Amino acid sequence: MNGVEEDVLGELRTTFRSGRTRSVAWRKAQLQAILKLLDENEEEIFEALKQDLGKHPVESYRDEVGVVRKSATNALRCVEKWMAPQKAPIPLVLFPARGAVVSEPLGVVLLFVSWNFPISLTLDPAIGAISAGNTIVLKPSELAPKCSSVLANTIPRYLDPEAIKVVEGGQDVSEQLLQLKWDKIFFTGSPRVGRLIMSAAAKHLTPVTLELGGKCPTILDTLSSSYDLQVAVKRIAGGKWGPCNGQACIGIDYVLVETQFAPVLIELLEKIIKTFYGENLKTLGNLARIVNKHHFDRVHNLLKDPKVAASVVYGGSVDEENMVIEPTILLNPPLDADIMTEEIFGPLLPIITLNNIEESIQFINSRPKPLAIYAFTKNDSLKEKILQETSSGSLTFNDAMIQFICDTLPFGGVGQSGYGRYHGKFSFDTFSHEKAVLHRSLLIELESRYPPWNNFKLEF
Ligand code: NAD
Repeated sequence: MNGVEEDVLGELRTTFRSGRTRSVAWRKAQLQAILKLLDENEEEIFEALKQDLGKHPVESYRDEVGVVRKSATNALRCVEKWMAPQKAPIPLVLFPARGAVVSEPLGVVLLFVSWNFPISLTLDPAIGAISAGNTIVLKPSELAPKCSSVLANTIPRYLDPEAIKVVEGGQDVSEQLLQLKWDKIFFTGSPRVGRLIMSAAAKHLTPVTLELGGKCPTILDTLSSSYDLQVAVKRIAGGKWGPCNGQACIGIDYVLVETQFAPVLIELLEKIIKTFYGENLKTLGNLARIVNKHHFDRVHNLLKDPKVAASVVYGGSVDEENMVIEPTILLNPPLDADIMTEEIFGPLLPIITLNNIEESIQFINSRPKPLAIYAFTKNDSLKEKILQETSSGSLTFNDAMIQFICDTLPFGGVGQSGYGRYHGKFSFDTFSHEKAVLHRSLLIELESRYPPWNNFKLEF
């Protein structure tokens, strides 16, 4: 075992045991330091995101810097309230007594991060772990190396270096880290690696949160008003190609629509793609690129399947040199093709037609539980049916992706899309142990709780 990881863990454990990360002052100072880090290094962060993923600075602000700013500001405002013991009602039989739920930090936590939102998916969970008073190891993704390096260079300069550490590296480093005993592992990534994380954690009975992925379906009901339709289709385009060009865990994977409605949808999507992103692949400056050659080939291969290629109704071209894939619409690709069985995580949008929109429920239920379901409809009974009869990490009506920035709602998956939740107060809870505290008085003693047993005590 490489001793570096063990040394890091040892130092963080010493800091945790010193008790200093428990004070509200320490927590607030770290949260303020995150805001300062963002303010003073924004240009550097934008540049790293440009180099790793080709993200435009506006997109980088919206999806990364802005998201973290909002979370840190919210945590600064709320952390004292979150830390306050919660009074709990006590059964009469225990009187006189009072009860409370007291949140205590778990200890030393390990955060694994995916590459698609390398800044926000590192700092956002870290805000929860800091608010809860833990010490932390952050392991950014090796697939976004510039962002990993910006984090590794800035975090020790702004945050408490004896309490929060960045460990860079690939699979070998991750595997070393996983051999150690942590008090919590928070993982953002694929279900495949999620399984490895969970089994490594089991060895030490370490609790885990798994923020995984999957195929997020969108149900588009027939909308009769042209305004509603325009807004819905714009939001579908934004939810597919907007965040990191389809490389987003809650990005739309495919759309379910009634057969007669598909041509209208395709026509409107084409117009919006041209307006948002333009037509020439070389000038698609408003789209992130595919992260690396491996993922470019993976997405390209989904498209190369001849039966899938035959279903392309818009787009389909690729620029291998710059690792860009055009926003692409497919109509009814085979349901047993990889594009419909694996998470696409790229700019391909299959449209699947149904005879009746209510069939979408069965379609979704015959597949693993998604991280998000989106449904565009004004029909309240359809909304209720989707709500009652499907299961997903989140369900959003008439918009896409936007639930991510709603800190009052928990963010997380269910079934194959993950385990646990975070954001806002949920982040604080995820990194806390809720300790049950009961204060009893020595005044009144109930003798019937003690032997010797007799029938009178049974009746009592
Ligand atoms: P990944 O599972 O390949 O990697 C995630 C992290 O695990 C990285 O830090 C990586 O270094 C580490 N890792 C990789 N192999 C490992 C191993 N063998 N042992 C231990 N650690 C290992 O995922 P990815 O490609 O970075 O991200 C894409 C996936 O993440 C998609 O499935 C996507 O849906 C999901 N995702 C989920 C969320 C969410 O919030 N639910 C957010 C973003 C991405």
